[in-house]
Amino acid sequence: MNIILFGPPGAGKGTQAKRLEELLNIPQLSTGDMLRAAVKAGTEMGKRAQKIMEEGGLVSDDIIVGMIKDRIAEDDCKNGFLLDGFPRTEAQAEALDTMLSDSGNKIDLTIEIQVDDTKLTERICNRFTCSQCGAGYNKISQPTQVDGVCDKCGGTEFSTRADDTAECVASRLETYHEQTAPVLPYYQHKGIHHIVDGMADIDRVTEAIKKVLN
Ligand code: AMP
Repeated sequence: MNIILFGPPGAGKGTQAKRLEELLNIPQLSTGDMLRAAVKAGTEMGKRAQKIMEEGGLVSDDIIVGMIKDRIAEDDCKNGFLLDGFPRTEAQAEALDTMLSDSGNKIDLTIEIQVDDTKLTERICNRFTCSQCGAGYNKISQPTQVDGVCDKCGGTEFSTRADDTAECVASRLETYHEQTAPVLPYYQHKGIHHIVDGMADIDRVTEAIKKVLN
């Protein structure tokens, strides 16, 4: 099954994608994670993307589409994949359809996680990740059980994303409303789009998504 998870930054796409990855045994393809890996590795593409990401803008469609095309061609995507953070523009959605139909494939389902902007800002500005195992936390809603120690791996180093600042969040939300929200009707018209309430707690959102999958 080929699925797209939509939602503004901080909606919980990554968290839910990790759970669905296990449940459905298909890989999560996060363009944000791929770009952050390129930034960390210091590749030419990473260097160009870094500035745009820190400003809350969008990396060019050509780069992103090329990246996803290569990733989808890999072996582990044969039985399906879960897109997280792609497509983000109408041009990306069209390019995705073309690359899939060229191989007799299609998107089966799109799921939009809806959360209001005030909640998103609060979530994003308080989130942090274990540097060792990648487990995600939130200073307010989901702190570590022991202060400064990761619940999952016992790690004691944590990091925050360079673009999780109040200023950058504002432009990321604006970018979402201006460029990504207009992509949603494209899938609504195909009759494959589903909306879940992302204001609920993490487990309830997972349950709502499972209902859609059934
Ligand atoms: P994310 O982790 O999905 O929030 O993405 C972090 C940043 O990476 C975004 O704010 C964009 O600058 C960039 N990015 C991720 N996915 C895309 C995409 N599909 N198209 C353009 N830029 C993207």
